[in-house]
Amino acid sequence: MIQSILIANRGEIAIRIAQTAKRMGITTYAIRTAKEPEALYLSAADHVINFPNTDSTIPEFLDIESIVAIAKANGIEAIHPGYGYLSENALLADHCQQTGVIFIGPPANVIRAMGDKITAKEIAGKAGIPMPGGSNGAVSNVEAATQAAQKIGFPVIIKASAGGGGRGMRIVHKAKELPRLFNEASSEALRAFNDPSVFVEKYLVSPKHIEMQVVADAHGNIIHLGERECSVQRKHQKLIEEAPSPALTPALRAQMAEAAVNLAKAVNYQSLGTVEFLLDKDNKFYFMEMNTRIQVEHPVTEMITGVDLVELQIRIASGEKLPICQADVKQNGWAIECRINAEDVQSGFAPATGTIKGIRFPQGNHIRFDTGIARGSEVTPHFDSMMAKLIVHKASRKDAIKATMTALQQLHIKGVKTTIPFCKAVMDNKLFKSGNYNTSLIEEQMTDLV
Ligand code: ADP
Repeated sequence: MIQSILIANRGEIAIRIAQTAKRMGITTYAIRTAKEPEALYLSAADHVINFPNTDSTIPEFLDIESIVAIAKANGIEAIHPGYGYLSENALLADHCQQTGVIFIGPPANVIRAMGDKITAKEIAGKAGIPMPGGSNGAVSNVEAATQAAQKIGFPVIIKASAGGGGRGMRIVHKAKELPRLFNEASSEALRAFNDPSVFVEKYLVSPKHIEMQVVADAHGNIIHLGERECSVQRKHQKLIEEAPSPALTPALRAQMAEAAVNLAKAVNYQSLGTVEFLLDKDNKFYFMEMNTRIQVEHPVTEMITGVDLVELQIRIASGEKLPICQADVKQNGWAIECRINAEDVQSGFAPATGTIKGIRFPQGNHIRFDTGIARGSEVTPHFDSMMAKLIVHKASRKDAIKATMTALQQLHIKGVKTTIPFCKAVMDNKLFKSGNYNTSLIEEQMTDLV
């Protein structure tokens, strides 16, 4: 078993990782940066290491060389990248391997293959997973994109092969808009990912976003932990997630899980992974992408299965066999997660900043509140706007919605604008309550908010 972990991340996920590692008797190290010298996450680890002064302009948590050097200099055995930052960067996994540090995640070649949406689609297609129609591979100019779009019919979506975080993506409704949107997507991709490759995919109108959690060890054992529904989105960004999904029958769940496991098998997957699907109005599902890291929304799966995903990740990276088999995995009750972001809902969810003057936490055995902030924390534009995640677990979906509303009413964060009012509006929304909502919920049903 790994004895020490360098947490190459900040905020709530750094605390989340430290908590499990501590429980497992593993020594944890956090990294202190000049941008956030007194952040809450620093107190969660056993040791804190100051990020070295460098001339580099790379943000600290993206600086592969420095992070691996910290691990080496301090004799730390493994690196946990959390989510975002370097979590899906194959170069970190490579660098770890070359220097004898354990990377807590899949092998570099798997990160590389799945990190490129075109390659991932190719592999998934070969593994027999249903695909939305689209260009086979990259389209290098407007003509090729137009041809692909005309073949599948509008609307289409142009996506960056290296994409993530909703960047490099454009929806095209009519042929005449295509040249402009193709160029926008491609140049945004070049700026954000240093790779202008884009492809064309059929745009499904108002689908659901449903993803499957898979876990695989280095001994060929692969299981799934069921689904999460992440259809409450604004501008293709998730805001509220739930597990299970109100849309899945046991038969459909089994089919989607099988597809996810087949993809994991096809790439000889190891570690935690998430296979994302779109579900259309006829309950047909299509592969979208695979994320090779822990997801922000992993707690809803943990709540209903009782499985600690970070623990599994660490055990797998240590070379252990999966401690559970498929038959051990049961979905129990209903969990909802609300992302509490520092954003001004009234001004189009613009990032908000400020000093946290006080927090009142919601109370109850059914509540989990994962946060990286405390009284006195500075919320600055340096980092992502997510400050906390409120997760509620109850026996039924109806009870979970009610208890989430109560918890949101109890939760107070003073000093910065938050998405709490938005989350309350969703809990109160008829369509959300019906369970029959999809990714257009906010844009179509909650127009006063967008
Ligand atoms: P990113 O990797 O940038 O987050 P994704 O490919 O995961 O982008 O897509 C993000 C969201 O965009 C999805 O959850 C979904 O709401 C929407 N989306 C992506 N592809 C399609 C599609 N083909 N049809 C309809 N919506 C899509």
